[in-house]
Amino acid sequence: MAKPDLLLLVLDDSPILQLTGRALRAAGYELAIVQDIESMQKALQESSPALVLVGETFAGKSGLKLAESMLDRFPTLPILLFAEHDTTGLAKEVLRIGLSGYLYPPLRIEDIVTAVNRSMERAHHLGDWLRREVKMTTASLEKRAQLSESERNRYETIFANIQDGVIVLDSRHNIVILNPSIRETFSLGDQDLKGRPLLEVITQPDVRALLTRSAEGPVKYHEVTLDNGQVMNAQFTPIPGIGSAITMQDISYLKDLDRMKSDFVHTVSHDLRSPLTALLGYAELIDRIGPLNEQQKEFLHRMQASVQHITSLVNDLLDLERIEAGFDTRREAVSIEGILKFTIDTFEGQAVTKKIDLKCDVAPGIPTVRANPIRIRQLLDNLVGNAIKYTPPDGKVLINVAARDQQIILEVTDTGPGIPQSEQTRIFDKFYRATNVPDGTQGSGLGLAIVKSIVENHHGRIWVESVQGKGSSFFVVLPSQE
Ligand code: ADP
Repeated sequence: MAKPDLLLLVLDDSPILQLTGRALRAAGYELAIVQDIESMQKALQESSPALVLVGETFAGKSGLKLAESMLDRFPTLPILLFAEHDTTGLAKEVLRIGLSGYLYPPLRIEDIVTAVNRSMERAHHLGDWLRREVKMTTASLEKRAQLSESERNRYETIFANIQDGVIVLDSRHNIVILNPSIRETFSLGDQDLKGRPLLEVITQPDVRALLTRSAEGPVKYHEVTLDNGQVMNAQFTPIPGIGSAITMQDISYLKDLDRMKSDFVHTVSHDLRSPLTALLGYAELIDRIGPLNEQQKEFLHRMQASVQHITSLVNDLLDLERIEAGFDTRREAVSIEGILKFTIDTFEGQAVTKKIDLKCDVAPGIPTVRANPIRIRQLLDNLVGNAIKYTPPDGKVLINVAARDQQIILEVTDTGPGIPQSEQTRIFDKFYRATNVPDGTQGSGLGLAIVKSIVENHHGRIWVESVQGKGSSFFVVLPSQE
């Protein structure tokens, strides 16, 4: 048999209390009767009554106030008020506080029992509904938790299987997560590294340099060379709201290929230089040992021009290799203006022949740059030489030199054919000649590659702005010595 519901009677001792007690016991309820505030609190707390009946006054206190504070603590507890009189004010208060109802004289036994039964019924309904809602909400929460758990597992599997190394950092460069590839590369074992500062866990200097560089400017990649010779290309990407991610890709095989290619170029160029010098020497001697007819002279002249062309190509290759390998370390105070004069002298003749208007505009007081003067001459010769070579007759070439923010800005602008947009980044590659080059134009496609290497070796930047059919402007920015 179910346990009878317990009702708490918070009523002063009176004939009404006796009557109510008897009636409710007879109706099958269990009763707890309290006579003071303290035992009322205790009963509420410990015996969890199913319903409370409270007098309009109890132990000298307002029953409404007591009911209100009971509902603050147990919002679903049904409470009936025993009023001394029925007034509209009282009815309003009962509604405002949220009591189950109120009874007032003349009190009859059936009225009391009916009111209690009805309140209990409503409370049971409410309880059932609440339990159902809680059950439904819990089930849906459990389902959602299961889903996000399986989703998390999926992401973790993907993350763990990425071949490239991945590290996610918070905004203070503490590790959020890293994948097995990184653990293997840096021999980190399987210790828990979450929350640890990256630079404490990975002490490799290149990783430190990557983090420093990423904070300083827009360059977000760096080569990381490990003790075992492996080379990784590390990329730094900021992630809004989280911090950043570093991805590392093994580029050792590319480095090996590059080294093999450089070795090959170096050997071939070196081995070619001596026979070429010999060829040129003998070609010069030919007309000294006997007279040549006009046709022989012409052929000899063409031979010399071809050998000179190959020699300059070989020299370009050797230069490029030397600059790229970092062997070009000569540095002194160089005046761009001074060197530009030699370049203009060299190309003025060609400009006059092609009727090209060659102009030079150098701002006064241009500071010097710390550079190798031979390389700066090479840089200027290549840019000005190209401008004159590619600009058709009657065009214009303007060389502009200015200084701003401790930088020297060189601009070589021409009214030549312009360079197709899609090829503008490729023209700085070795041996690349764009589709705008008219047939028969001399060149090897090495000039701009050399210029780019020189600029980078001097910590500068180079770029081109060009519109097809209008012309091109090459910009070089070098740090000034001040
Ligand atoms: P090249 O020996 O062919 O001149 P460069 O490396 O100096 O080699 O230049 C690469 C390519 O860039 C050229 O082949 C040409 O297509 C393009 N180029 C360079 N300078 C200019 C210019 N001033 N105007 C138009 N195209 C140019």
